[in-house]
Amino acid sequence: MLSIVPKDMGWIEVICGPMFSGKSEELIRRLRRAEIAKLKVAIFKPHIDDRYATGHIVSHSAQRLPSVPVSSTAEILERAADAQVVGIDEAQFFDMDLVDICQQLADQGKRVIVAGLDQDYRGKPFEPIPQLLAVAEYITKTLAICVQCGNPAGRTQRLSKDSERVVVGAADIYEARCRFCHQVHDEE
Ligand code: ADP
Ligand code: ZN
Repeated sequence: MLSIVPKDMGWIEVICGPMFSGKSEELIRRLRRAEIAKLKVAIFKPHIDDRYATGHIVSHSAQRLPSVPVSSTAEILERAADAQVVGIDEAQFFDMDLVDICQQLADQGKRVIVAGLDQDYRGKPFEPIPQLLAVAEYITKTLAICVQCGNPAGRTQRLSKDSERVVVGAADIYEARCRFCHQVHDEE
């Protein structure tokens, strides 16, 4: 009789949503539990994200976990070689190569947990997160609270007039807003 034996398999989890929605908190929670399970965990964030102490992923509620700042996705592949669980925060700051890197890590049998913004400040899909969602096994969408009306908020409002896609900041230039309260000032 043919018997089917499940193999040790990796997979990709994506945690996405707007700023202040608890992506980093949820990533930290999952990675802490993996550490409690005595799994080898490697945690990365892009070098560009220097808002808080480098060397940590930090949530807006001040939870933190040591992480390695990297300047390229290739560096993640290299440095994650020994890990069983790989965490990546602020994934929207990496290029499209991240999708292939995450696939390779999962193909090697690793659990890959990626957190990042799914929309930019205009409410447009923010690469490479949409492409990661397409290939992930598990997806979690987190919502914040709209600071204008108290509804669940899926968008990030930029308070400055900058029109580049990437402007690194926190509560000084961004706030969470719902679909109704979110505004784009570009056309002014
Ligand atoms: P993200 O990684 O999605 O930016 P964080 O995990 O860093 O989110 O922070 C989530 C925390 O931010 C919440 O637990 C709460 O303490 C705080 N917070 C501040 N503003 C808001 C908001 N408008 N809606 C929800 N949480 C907020
Ligand atoms: Zn609102």
